[in-house]
Amino acid sequence: MSVIKRREFLRSTLATVPAAMLPYGRLLAATESGAINDVEAVTGAGKQIVLKGADVKDFAARLRGDVLLRDSAGYDTARRVWNGAFDRHPAIIARCTGAADVAEAVKFAAANQLLVAVRGGGHSLSGLSVCEKGLMIDLSQMNGVRVDPVRKVAFVEGGALLGALDREALALGLATTAGTVSHTGVGGLTLGGGFGRLCRRFGLACDNVRGIDLVNADGKFLNASNQQNQDLFWGLRGGGGNFGVATAFEFQLHPVDPIMLGGDLMFSWEDAPAVLKFFFDYAKEAPDELNADVAVVRLPNDQRFVSFDICYSGDRAQGEKVLAPLRQIRKPILDKIEPAPYVALQSSSDVATEHGHRYYIKAGFVQKATPAFIDTMIGIVQDANLPQVQAVSVPQGGGAIARVKPNATAFAQRAADHNAFIFTRWDDPAQNEAVSAWIKSAWAKLEPHTHGFYVNEFNAEDAARLSTTYGGNFSRLVDLKTKVDPDNLFRLNANVVPKARA
Ligand SMILES: Cc1cc2nc3c(=O)[nH]c(=O)nc-3n(C[C@H](O)[C@H](O)[C@H](O)COP(=O)(O)OP(=O)(O)OC[C@H]3O[C@@H](n4cnc5c(N)ncnc54)[C@H](O)[C@@H]3O)c2cc1C
Repeated sequence: MSVIKRREFLRSTLATVPAAMLPYGRLLAATESGAINDVEAVTGAGKQIVLKGADVKDFAARLRGDVLLRDSAGYDTARRVWNGAFDRHPAIIARCTGAADVAEAVKFAAANQLLVAVRGGGHSLSGLSVCEKGLMIDLSQMNGVRVDPVRKVAFVEGGALLGALDREALALGLATTAGTVSHTGVGGLTLGGGFGRLCRRFGLACDNVRGIDLVNADGKFLNASNQQNQDLFWGLRGGGGNFGVATAFEFQLHPVDPIMLGGDLMFSWEDAPAVLKFFFDYAKEAPDELNADVAVVRLPNDQRFVSFDICYSGDRAQGEKVLAPLRQIRKPILDKIEPAPYVALQSSSDVATEHGHRYYIKAGFVQKATPAFIDTMIGIVQDANLPQVQAVSVPQGGGAIARVKPNATAFAQRAADHNAFIFTRWDDPAQNEAVSAWIKSAWAKLEPHTHGFYVNEFNAEDAARLSTTYGGNFSRLVDLKTKVDPDNLFRLNANVVPKARA
């Protein structure tokens, strides 16, 4: 039996086995008598409700994974997400161990109209993978990756982290596009698009997906690919978490040299205008093998500089030639570009972006980096003066991303040369207002240079810009959402709101 057939057999078998015959999950609650208190919760529409303790207990009995309530051991750890600015308390956390658990969780949520958050890697910048008083469907234990080196594909569970995908694929000399921080989730990153060090060569992460196993809003199992459920497959590649819970992805892998030319390259603040002007012209002509993300940065000690994160994934001798002009624009204050294991490059920003700090990001796509855009970037960082890191970061687009038609997948912003975001990180809650004011004033300057935004950098203030982001794909997404999730069960995302029922 082929792997796919075996998985389909397992899926259909599980679907027909009465829940009582499956191994039970533990309901980790404080009561020792076995009785469960009623649970206060909230619906997707924001209505306060009370779930009967017996119903919650019955739900837990249908899961193989654990179910956590507010007073359960492990609840506080499980509810934490990457962005420490979001301190939310779900009514229930379902720690799913497989698609069968996910289906039970979705059915329970739908039956009770619960507010639902889906947690993959937990890196939502706006904290949308945790909710206040709703049901958190936690996929973090569904983190397996299996690589088939013959077919050059990876099967990746919906809660796996990028580091696991890179590691398993690289061990066999293979890779696909994954993001630049290894503790980010495959699920959220891929469904929203997926930029990374290999995206100009192989396309976005979503462009490398061959199939997705999904639990839809009815709690049904589906596989979406170019062969079946094509419309859904189109929407899942860029439409974010709007259409269901992805329990597994099948990725196309590509042979790569596991040692690539990459690392940091930094220039002094005085050289910022000349360096940036050169870079944006150079980036337009760069070969697909080059990924160069640039950031203008101010540190808490008031030091400012221009920093490049470089990865050249092709022939290294050729890479040296390609990179020579960039390294020679001015004298770098740091040049750490050297042959390095790709997995090391992929985790080189892990510490700088560690969990638990407060982060705030505003983002937009830049079609062409004009002189006015460059001046604005520099001006924003020149004027920055908060006691924390502030930066404008500009990952590169183009290459293979731009060779996919804008309507071929839901991800429409194929023509953008760059994706710019303003970012700050802090810890002291007393700084919340100052940070928010700084980001908003900086964004007011940068926004006119952008068109739409990357849905994986969504925050609540961006909802009105969603139709610009999806452009000509927006109405098709609304129709798809209306068809597959008319009650908007999956709303904690860059939400495509379904049409009102007639
Ligand atoms: C440190 C850091 C580095 C980043 N680097 C990059 C980068 O290099 N390239 C890039 O493109 N993006 C990058 N991002 C943005 C990233 O793509 C998004 O934050 C993405 O949502 C993270 O996915 P996750 O599974 O970790 O997040 P989660 O917080 O778990 O999920 C975010 C949203 O995705 C949906 N979701 C997640 N998993 C599933 C699933 N299995 N099924 C259905 N819906 C799901 C849900 O709607 C959820 O609200 C980065 C983010 C951070 C914080």
